[in-house]
Amino acid sequence: MTELNPKSELNIDQLTSDFPLLQQLIALEEVSWFNPNITTLEQGLPYVGLGDKDIHDASLRLQRFAPYLAKAFPETQITNGIIESELIDIPVMKSGLEAHYHLPIKGRLMMKKDSHLPISGSIKARGGIYEVLTHAEKLAFEAGLLSESDDYSKLLESEFREFFQQYSIAVGSTGNLGMSIGIMSAKLGFTVSVHMSADARAWKKNKLREHGVNVVEYEQDYGVAVVQGRKEAEQDPRCFFIDDENSQTLFLGYSVAGERLKQQFEQQQIVVDKEHPLFVYLPCGVGGGPGGVAFGLKMAFGDDVHCIFAEPTHSPCMLLGVHTGLHDEIAVQDLGIDNLTAADGLAVGRASGFVGRAMERLLDGYYTLTDERMYQLLSELNQAEGIRLEPSALAGMPGAVHVEHNREYLERLGITESTLNNATHLVWATGGGMVPEQEMAAYLAKSSV
Ligand SMILES: *Cc1c(COP(=O)(O)O)cnc(C)c1O
Repeated sequence: MTELNPKSELNIDQLTSDFPLLQQLIALEEVSWFNPNITTLEQGLPYVGLGDKDIHDASLRLQRFAPYLAKAFPETQITNGIIESELIDIPVMKSGLEAHYHLPIKGRLMMKKDSHLPISGSIKARGGIYEVLTHAEKLAFEAGLLSESDDYSKLLESEFREFFQQYSIAVGSTGNLGMSIGIMSAKLGFTVSVHMSADARAWKKNKLREHGVNVVEYEQDYGVAVVQGRKEAEQDPRCFFIDDENSQTLFLGYSVAGERLKQQFEQQQIVVDKEHPLFVYLPCGVGGGPGGVAFGLKMAFGDDVHCIFAEPTHSPCMLLGVHTGLHDEIAVQDLGIDNLTAADGLAVGRASGFVGRAMERLLDGYYTLTDERMYQLLSELNQAEGIRLEPSALAGMPGAVHVEHNREYLERLGITESTLNNATHLVWATGGGMVPEQEMAAYLAKSSV
């Protein structure tokens, strides 16, 4: 390991000696890192460049579209066209984790079932759908076809479908973002191309084709699919490219989750304050989803919520970017890490520079886990709670164990044993609700070995 990386001019030897944790990343060990440089929300917020008003705008936009969504996607009728997931307790899984890790988990273990969000069965039903709606609204406003006070169910009329048909939307994806953007765009009438990386599942591609989406397949990873998608879009002025790596719109679509979760906590009479901290464990790919949700959570709960990101040992891009301060100037491949993982949505080698720079002060920590552990937890959750998720969605499950283990972190935050007894640990389950029976059987078979 003496070579200088010629492309990025990174001196890997120097880096690994400056940041010894990288040696463990390179060895594909499961690691955790609790960032000593975090700040309060007040100190960190200016670096985000977005605020309450932006989240509120996003929330209002989703409310305007709710009557349309309720009709276009009947499965959203019960929530009146609001795309939201359940918040549940998982007590049996908690006991299972305690036995497995030989460690008591103080407080309550809960799960946010974004895995079962309507329309696309993953967390991407927040950001992806929101960005398509934002774009559609803008076009319709500019054409004088729609105004804010209209009943948006008129978007179902053929006049609108014909209007949107003149425009196209493109996106690069490992699967779930493509599902959200593809299904939503096609429903409105857009011509839509999804550029899929090699790791994308066949059933996701098939489902998109059934919806009339143009699926373009690549033999390379997510980064390549994005570059190609962007290139194609640049040649067509009527084509809108959705940029998962840098989009503030996507980020804001995710952030609405904060106020929604706050309402759910109030309904279930769960207190979050200094004496009752909330720890949230979010699987991270490029960072937009977990970053946007974390931003919304910080704005809703302030310094009493603690967000921790989880990544596969083969794709620890956000941990790498934030830990070294290099953000999107370094990829896991620069360290010789292969970015191959069974965790859909998490196979990302280079993190979003926007999210890392905006959110690093407000994210308490990061950890990695192996694919084998995700499979094992997948099976355990199925047995314990009868809930079936895709592997990536299990990444948040061991988070509470890392927090319990990390005394330095807890002391630094002034969180005592007794405070920890009042804590809520929330595992953000990000996908799996639409996995076909046969695929799920294969996942379950993997974990029982
Ligand atoms: C996309 C995705 C994530 C992570 O979101 P990013 O915005 O890529 O960080 C996590 N879990 C699942 C299932 C996903 O599809």
